Amino acid sequence: MLITDPKLLTALRQLEIERRPGVRLASWTSLGIGGTTDLLIVRERRYLPDLLQLLRGQGIRHRLLGGGSNLLVADGELPWVALRLARIEPTVRIEGKSVWVDAAEELGRAITTCAKANLGGLEGLIGVPGTVGGALRMNAGAYGAEIGNLVREIVVYRAVCGRIDTLRAGQVRFEYRRASFTPCDILLGARLELIERPFREVVDRIHVCNFNRRASQPLAERSAGCVFKNPPGSSAGKLIDEIGLKGFRIGGAMVSDRHANFFINRGRATCDDMHRLIEQVRSRVWSAFKIELEEEIVVWVN
Ligand SMILES: Cc1cc2nc3c(=O)[nH]c(=O)nc-3n(C[C@H](O)[C@H](O)[C@H](O)COP(=O)(O)OP(=O)(O)OC[C@H]3O[C@@H](n4cnc5c(N)ncnc54)[C@H](O)[C@@H]3O)c2cc1C
Repeated sequence: MLITDPKLLTALRQLEIERRPGVRLASWTSLGIGGTTDLLIVRERRYLPDLLQLLRGQGIRHRLLGGGSNLLVADGELPWVALRLARIEPTVRIEGKSVWVDAAEELGRAITTCAKANLGGLEGLIGVPGTVGGALRMNAGAYGAEIGNLVREIVVYRAVCGRIDTLRAGQVRFEYRRASFTPCDILLGARLELIERPFREVVDRIHVCNFNRRASQPLAERSAGCVFKNPPGSSAGKLIDEIGLKGFRIGGAMVSDRHANFFINRGRATCDDMHRLIEQVRSRVWSAFKIELEEEIVVWVN
């Protein structure tokens, strides 16, 4: 959606919003798929209530973009604007084992900053692309680590009531690749409780995780990570592999032949290609095993 109303454009400038008109979200997502809209980059978080009120007043919907590494976005002109939090230093503040991380910080950078302060616990998450905000929203996890387990507090802008709240760990339920926020909550940052661990040991653990990831995932290809959640007691990738779907392709979208739960954009995949591939794979897994796969990736098609 392209904002053209001059009054609204002036108001956005007053709120210090950086507007990038008509960006292709394909360039902002790891899958390389996504249509065109205005991208609004929010510097001053205290202006979020005014911004959202302005948009609501004009009937303009929004979506919150982190690093774009878990998203399948529709093609064409999108009927909403994308918001993104600007990265503002300092993004990581360390007080003993307690670490404040800003939602706009890249997760990988936060992990290495903590490592340099002899703090571990997040090593398994190295190689998960995207931002801290996206990781909290998705309760990102890998190699035995899950970010939700380390959260002590989260600061969140609750659009429904228009206020910024600090939630304690017990007030948020973190589950496998989901957390109990409402769709319109905007996470601003979190306080994590990390583990004291010598830098060398943290780095060794990071190397092991990197090695395992490189050995099993198509990291040179465009993907959004695992498409489906693992069903209880099983692995989505294994089920897809067992029915011979590695390399299965619809248009430019293909099941990776390296990891069957990674679907890749071979260059010109459309959202529709990817969507049809997801539905085909889901339906074939159901026919073969009577297991319904649930998407892990977030789909923005309307
Ligand atoms: C190669 C590759 C490997 C991956 N490996 C893993 C893995 O091992 N484990 C794993 O868990 N994931 C993995 N992923 C998926 C993805 O990286 C994670 O889900 C990541 O945490 C998403 O963060 P993001 O900032 O990119 O979020 P986005 O993709 O931008 O957004 C995802 C969701 O979070 C919401 N969101 C983003 N920021 C905020 C915020 N500040 N407040 C509220 N909502 C927000 C968005 O609106 C959207 O609903 C992988 C992806 C790739 C491409």
